[in-house]
Amino acid sequence: MKRFPFLKSFRLRVFLLILLSGLVLVNVMRYGMVSNLYGRLIESQTMDMTEQVRICANSMKNYDFFRDASSEAINVQLAQLSRIYEGRILVMDRGFSVIADTYDISLGKIMIGEEVIRAYRSETVVSNHDKGTRYIEVAIPVTENDVQTGETEVLGVILASASTDEIRRNMSDIQRRGWIIEIVLVVLLIGAAALSASLSVRPFERVTKAIAGVVSFEEDVPLVSDYKETTEIVEAFQKLRQRLKVLDDSRQEFVSNVSHELKTPIASIKVLADSLNMQEGAPLEMYRDFMKDISAEVDRENEIITDLLELVRMEKGASGMHVENVNVNELLEQITKRLGPLARKSEVDLILESHRPVTADMDAVKMTQAITNIIENGIKYNKHPGWVRIVLDADHKYMTLTISDSGTGIPETEIGHIFERFYRGDKSHSKEISGTGLGLAITRKTILLHRGSIDVKSVLGEGTSFIVKIPLSHIRETGESA
Ligand code: ADP
Repeated sequence: MKRFPFLKSFRLRVFLLILLSGLVLVNVMRYGMVSNLYGRLIESQTMDMTEQVRICANSMKNYDFFRDASSEAINVQLAQLSRIYEGRILVMDRGFSVIADTYDISLGKIMIGEEVIRAYRSETVVSNHDKGTRYIEVAIPVTENDVQTGETEVLGVILASASTDEIRRNMSDIQRRGWIIEIVLVVLLIGAAALSASLSVRPFERVTKAIAGVVSFEEDVPLVSDYKETTEIVEAFQKLRQRLKVLDDSRQEFVSNVSHELKTPIASIKVLADSLNMQEGAPLEMYRDFMKDISAEVDRENEIITDLLELVRMEKGASGMHVENVNVNELLEQITKRLGPLARKSEVDLILESHRPVTADMDAVKMTQAITNIIENGIKYNKHPGWVRIVLDADHKYMTLTISDSGTGIPETEIGHIFERFYRGDKSHSKEISGTGLGLAITRKTILLHRGSIDVKSVLGEGTSFIVKIPLSHIRETGESA
């Protein structure tokens, strides 16, 4: 189909389909009719000839032709028949000796042709149409009833042959007319096929026009219900439009969240700077204090931008991943070592339990970030003193990482939202504890890119457990290199 791009047109295909089916039908009908007519003409010629020869045979009996073949009347009759049928008539007696021949060449000879023998034996008319020689042959037995014995006696056989040339001439004339009719039919067929093809694609054109006319996600596509298929296309498009609307809404919400989040630290910086500016002769202590706050706000702004960039990079999908075989035990040791000072500061014990050596295909940098986010949360949203336990296990297919803490727990109403971008739990503690609300969104995205899963179990006031499952061998997305 690549070589014939024009065949991709549905209209052309319908047109060709109707045209080809029509052509096949017209030709089959023409062929059927012509050969049927030819057969009938041959049959009628055979019957006609049999009838005429029979009449002649009756005369023969009257003239006792089989004993004395000199009858002028019969010979004239035979010659006439032979002329009419453009053929030859032979009369054989019961000894198969030719007693009359309209060609006068076989007189006195013995003729034992197949038809003659069969007609003689079966005492019925035997006819044969030879397409090669273009002759119809009819062998007619001439019989007589013996009055005394009541038995039928065969006196002889008449073999008449007739040329089919006349029939053929008529047939070629009929064929010619047949062709003319066929050409007219084909012209009509082309018109009908073109009309049907264009009528059959019209609903699809209406669908295309209706879809092309949609300019916003809010707009409904008018239903094109000519065909079941067009209704289905419009319905599928409607569903796609709804999905896109949800995506667009979430994109808009994301943009407004981002703007809001980015503006908050800047607004604080502005307030702090303005109040310093307005205060004449402010003490150095106050400057130091305000500058510390400004620096903290800059850090926060930086943190949000870093997380945002990370999240945007994730959106590129698996193509941005650098997958390699990683020693997960070592990776976890490095992470816990790095988070050690933060944990100690918050009086949180970090416990790492590795049940077995595990190596897995993963993007070490991204996975470090994802696991760090969970452990950091465990430290941040914990009691002081408290603990965070990291347990690593694996089967032959998956590694399982369970990160539990003795922290505050997550209320049931919030648990469904913690992976959303910018979602931060209970506002009262979110002010005290730093964070952007992007950490778990990044973590979840990373885990999904590794074709893994993340689960949360939490009891308010007792603690939270995150269960991460990652396949040991990386399953590449088709068409994307990992
Ligand atoms: P951030 O920590 O920056 O607020 P995250 O996306 O990491 O953002 O987490 C979203 C929210 O989920 C947090 O604000 C917090 O309310 C809740 N949360 C996450 N981890 C824990 C945990 N281990 N214990 C209690 N609450 C948690």
